[in-house]
Amino acid sequence: MDHDQSAPPLPPHVLVFPLPVQGHLNSMLKLAELLCLGNLHVTMLVSDFSHSRLLRHTSVHSHFARYPGFCFRTISDGLPEDHPRAGERVVEIMSSIKSVTGPQFQEMMIATDCFASETKRPITCIIADGVLSFAGDFAIQRGIPLIYFRTVSACSFWAYFCMPELIEAQEIPLKGNGMDLLVKSVPGMEGFLRRRDLPGFYRVDEISDPRLQVVKTETRQTPRAQAVIKNTFDDLEGPILSQVRTHCPNLFSIGPLHAHLKAKLAAETNSSSTSSGSFWEEDRSCVTWLDSQPSKSVIYVSFGSITVVTRNQLLEFWYGLVNSGQRFLWVMRPDSITEKNGENQIPVDLVEGTKERGYMVGWAPQEEVLAHPAVGGFLTHSGWNSTLESIVSGVPMICWPYFADQMINSRFVSEVWKIGLDMKDTCDRVIVQKMVRDLMDVRKDEFQERVSHMANLAKRAVNEGGSSYCNLDALIKYINSMIE
Ligand code: UDP
Repeated sequence: MDHDQSAPPLPPHVLVFPLPVQGHLNSMLKLAELLCLGNLHVTMLVSDFSHSRLLRHTSVHSHFARYPGFCFRTISDGLPEDHPRAGERVVEIMSSIKSVTGPQFQEMMIATDCFASETKRPITCIIADGVLSFAGDFAIQRGIPLIYFRTVSACSFWAYFCMPELIEAQEIPLKGNGMDLLVKSVPGMEGFLRRRDLPGFYRVDEISDPRLQVVKTETRQTPRAQAVIKNTFDDLEGPILSQVRTHCPNLFSIGPLHAHLKAKLAAETNSSSTSSGSFWEEDRSCVTWLDSQPSKSVIYVSFGSITVVTRNQLLEFWYGLVNSGQRFLWVMRPDSITEKNGENQIPVDLVEGTKERGYMVGWAPQEEVLAHPAVGGFLTHSGWNSTLESIVSGVPMICWPYFADQMINSRFVSEVWKIGLDMKDTCDRVIVQKMVRDLMDVRKDEFQERVSHMANLAKRAVNEGGSSYCNLDALIKYINSMIE
């Protein structure tokens, strides 16, 4: 590195390295921008696949051009271009990342002297997605400070962390038995967590199941890092964060990150506009449609970026929505329906009901949709980003979790925060219809009151003096102290 001695010292240089799937990338992109606003240099390492999607569907490059210390670097995820990267096959991403990306990452870091240049120090800190333990191995071998970012909720992280105790007590593997029994081995959740609410990866027959083993290895190695970042806030998950802190004491809860970034941009640049990190083209026509709907009359339906549904499930949801008589905006990703080759005809009553009260798109600007005054409810798969986005916008939820952390997020939504209903493990049209009516009409006021309160707490957390605001300050100071 050849740096002019009379110039001010170069700031720390952070590597931000997410697992290359939509939800992880979204939140780590927000983190990267917050670090840029904290005057740090940031290199963000994304897969070639994610990068090409970002280039095609977002303005991320022009948006980040305002931060001269920021750059993208790309690396292969090892999968062929046409791999679906959705549904259960997302598990293949993990093994490909480990076998292909891992070794490439090491080579790249060494060959580039960890991304050093005339204007940047070699990486001074690695913030790796907490499921990329090979990045942690590299940091530790090289003596580079390591921070893990776990993108999931604290409650699901804690339920993962307690896996050895769950195994010891024979509460997992679930094998589909005793699903309504209360779980005893996750401290802090004894009174309300049923076996069916445990993370989806526990729904296996054998402890040796590779999915279970991957989660165990990746989670239990977390305390190796000097610090851990969580996209949550103390008023939401305080008691669980205290449990996690018994193993990872240097824990920075700085979420909800999307709201945090908006608040910082508004305070520092007078514009709160951020860049989308979408892998699909956002269809903005749905915002125009929402503009012509009455206040809080629409239920927004979206199952995130990975969930796939069978044609049967699709029809149950569809009938439930149409029969509920409510207006709905539904995101149906083109790759989200399995068994496409079967019967493709849509029953005429559904077509008519949708024409009258519904609108469908392939991908929506979700944050904007949730913040729209016409939206009064969210039928969601309970992905953690979606859950936080709904909370911040004060929108109550119906949860239909698909897998992984979503199973436990939905339990917290319904039983702990009481800001929605949990429909897990069924999507019968009669239940869909009833829950939509309950959320949007019969029990509307009670849910609305609680979620509005939570939305205010979220906003307080990310504004000056709030817990996440102070924790982010502390995190940036901590990263600065690493080069002193
Ligand atoms: N999302 C979006 N448009 C859509 C559906 C989803 O922008 O039509 C975004 C959503 O705002 C969220 C992310 O995709 O930030 C999904 O992440 P989440 O953690 O909720 O679920 P995952 O996709 O990881 O299952």
